[in-house]
Amino acid sequence: PPFPLRMEGKVIHGYGRGSKELGIPTANLPVDTNLTPWIADIASGVYFGWASLRLSELSLSSPPTSLDTASHSGFSLYPMVMSIMANKFYENTERSAEVHVLHEFEEDFYGAELRVLLTGFIREGRGDYANKEELIADIKLDCDIALKSLDREAWALRELGRGTLDGS
Ligand code: ADP
Ligand code: MG
Repeated sequence: PPFPLRMEGKVIHGYGRGSKELGIPTANLPVDTNLTPWIADIASGVYFGWASLRLSELSLSSPPTSLDTASHSGFSLYPMVMSIMANKFYENTERSAEVHVLHEFEEDFYGAELRVLLTGFIREGRGDYANKEELIADIKLDCDIALKSLDREAWALRELGRGTLDGS
């Protein structure tokens, strides 16, 4: 299916694979193939795009700082990288969806409403890292690629907005 792809839900607990210990926490979303039929068809791997998160009902506040920010009905917009992988903890067809939001939060936000817009694919998943450092380096590269790509998209959106404001 063509980009962008949408998905939303409330952040659930993952399986304690220690993402946070690596410095790369991933907010897990429930996978409902009725709501997101495309998730069964797309390649496993790392995607990038935008995450929109509503923290208000959790009485947390953490304003976005990276790229352009927007707030809409309590949602704040952040860049993100997302892994869509076979879920080893369930039957082989199940997939897990994990979003690393490119922003530093002061607190966890389990239960928060999270909407994601996947705008592109970065790479396939790998299971052959020699060590933790290699894995972390690869994910940092994913984050850089996401930020650079989204910066271009943001630029395109700004151009579009300017055009609209000009009446052209
Ligand atoms: P789990 O296995 O429960 O998903 P993680 O180690 O992956 O545990 O941590 C994920 C949790 O960390 C998220 O559910 C969220 O509450 C919190 N968190 C804090 N900062 C971030 C961030 N920048 N991106 C994603 N999750 C974050
Ligand atoms: Mg996680």
